[in-house]
Amino acid sequence: MTLTSKTAVVTGSTSGIGLAIARALAKEGANIVLNGLGDEAEIEKTRAGIEIEFGVKAVYSPANMLKADEIEEMVRLGERSFGSVDILVNNAGIQFVSPIEDFPVEKWDQIIAINLTSAFHAIRAAVPGMKARKWGRIINTASAHSLVASPFKSAYVAAKHGIAGLTKTVALEVATHGITVNCISPGYVWTPLVERQIPDTMKARGLTKEQVINDVLLEAQPTKQFVTVDQVAALAVFLCSDAASQMSGANLSMDGGWTAK
Ligand code: NAD
Repeated sequence: MTLTSKTAVVTGSTSGIGLAIARALAKEGANIVLNGLGDEAEIEKTRAGIEIEFGVKAVYSPANMLKADEIEEMVRLGERSFGSVDILVNNAGIQFVSPIEDFPVEKWDQIIAINLTSAFHAIRAAVPGMKARKWGRIINTASAHSLVASPFKSAYVAAKHGIAGLTKTVALEVATHGITVNCISPGYVWTPLVERQIPDTMKARGLTKEQVINDVLLEAQPTKQFVTVDQVAALAVFLCSDAASQMSGANLSMDGGWTAK
């Protein structure tokens, strides 16, 4: 248990990578602010399950990552409930796949807001408390798409390159305050986000489901395997440890070799 008495806010933690990170931080003793969309009863089951399984406290913030005031309130909820927000994981994200000329304007705006701007709002709300306590860990879930592009994902790739830039900038600003800022860049991780983009990719490229999985998704990854949510979560836990206190401003790939190509 390395994170006892710390509090972690994890955005988009009702599913996939965010949920795995929240559970892994709870396992290390951190209290958790869960966040994300979904069925109310399911979310309550997840929240209560974390408390029972790991012996920590967990609260749920319904903040919509499209709304600046709700994002700030999410950070305040953590501070009010547990006295501090020490770890902030900006993880919420959505995807949309379309040729640029057909890309719906509202989808572009949503992706930039949820995948990039929400991190700005959360960081800005959390940093003063971290500075006052001289300790903080900010982890942004970026993507291999923060380093390289794929066709038909203009908004996602733009947002993820943006989050890589935001990571480096804030890392420099808070470097002398005991706060580190890093991003994790997974390749393809088998989560609902990946599953949901298969039908649109089938349509955009004229392929079958099997062809999308093998020739588009896993084609990118030299290991020919999906990354697991637990592998990403283990890296997040490491970034919160004392061993990682001199790692900041880094963009850490976990992509089966994808971006080595
Ligand atoms: P997911 O769909 O399983 O989870 C996304 C989470 O974000 C959910 O909890 C969802 O409720 C939340 N969310 C979406 N819109 C929201 C909003 N408006 N307000 C609040 N919460 C919102 O997807 P995932 O694969 O776990 O993705 C998590 C992050 O990892 C994303 O930033 C994604 O871009 C990134 N990522 C995923 C992969 C992958 O292959 N799955 C690869 C690289 C990066």
